Amino acid sequence: MNTRKKPDWLKIQLPKGDDYAHINKIVTKHKLHTICSSGKCPNAGECWGNGTATFMILGNICTRACKFCNVPTGRPLPPDAKEAKRLARSIQLMQLKHAVVTSVDRDDLKDGGASFWADTIKEIKRTNPHTTLEVLIPDFDGRTELVDVVIAEKPEIISHNMETVRRLTRQVRSRAQYDTSLKVLRHISQSECVAKSGIMLGLGETRDEVIETMKDLVDAHVEVLTIGQYLQPTIKHLPVSEYVTPEQFDEYKEIGQSLGIPIVESGPLVRSSYHAERHVNKKKLS
Ligand code: SF4
Ligand code: SF4
Repeated sequence: MNTRKKPDWLKIQLPKGDDYAHINKIVTKHKLHTICSSGKCPNAGECWGNGTATFMILGNICTRACKFCNVPTGRPLPPDAKEAKRLARSIQLMQLKHAVVTSVDRDDLKDGGASFWADTIKEIKRTNPHTTLEVLIPDFDGRTELVDVVIAEKPEIISHNMETVRRLTRQVRSRAQYDTSLKVLRHISQSECVAKSGIMLGLGETRDEVIETMKDLVDAHVEVLTIGQYLQPTIKHLPVSEYVTPEQFDEYKEIGQSLGIPIVESGPLVRSSYHAERHVNKKKLS
């Protein structure tokens, strides 16, 4: 397939709807920062309409350099003590039902940012007691005692993305290791929080490798999996090797669920926080 021309199924629809317009007005008025708008996510109409949005904490410079990611790499600034309050207030102003929070990796900090994560979750929950929360965390280099610092604050969902299949991990991710990510997910799944992960397709993986990854996630007791198409952010990033068809995404959903992952969101435009509000409280429902 010619990967220079995007297929029709990746054409993005403009967001619409009263709920989207309402949230968009608040975001613009208060100059709020969401990944949904800064990343020009194709799902903003649907997610904002459903009362969900994604935010990033711990700055916008990452200590890692994954080959698919457009976040700048470098030496990050010290954590901003006011960030948690600002974020909690944004969630309140947007009247979100479900908030997703992610971060850059902070390998420069002794605890990888775990205590900052805990303070942020506390502040969001204090200010927004009726908003459910999903946190998409780094691997903390596999230090489960740091994952426990996040678990202790009881966000409803803790996600950690595998991003790709085992063979491509070294090529696609930076520093992160496939088995370390599985270890983090297994640890999360032993807690009361829903364990969630995500992978991107179109990086050169085979069907068998995708299935092997899903089996590994079943072994780790992951309860929610998102599968979406990788899109090259700039010419400097890894090229797209294939645009996976919607039918193939559907097949992966069926296979994932038949293998034992209770919820699989699979489609070309699926992102890790897509339909996130639906994944709360699904634990032990399989
Ligand atoms: Fe925002 Fe995630 Fe939805 Fe995209 S998929 S609009 S980033 S919440
Ligand atoms: Fe991007 Fe996360 Fe990789 Fe940093 S660790 S480069 S934010 S994907």
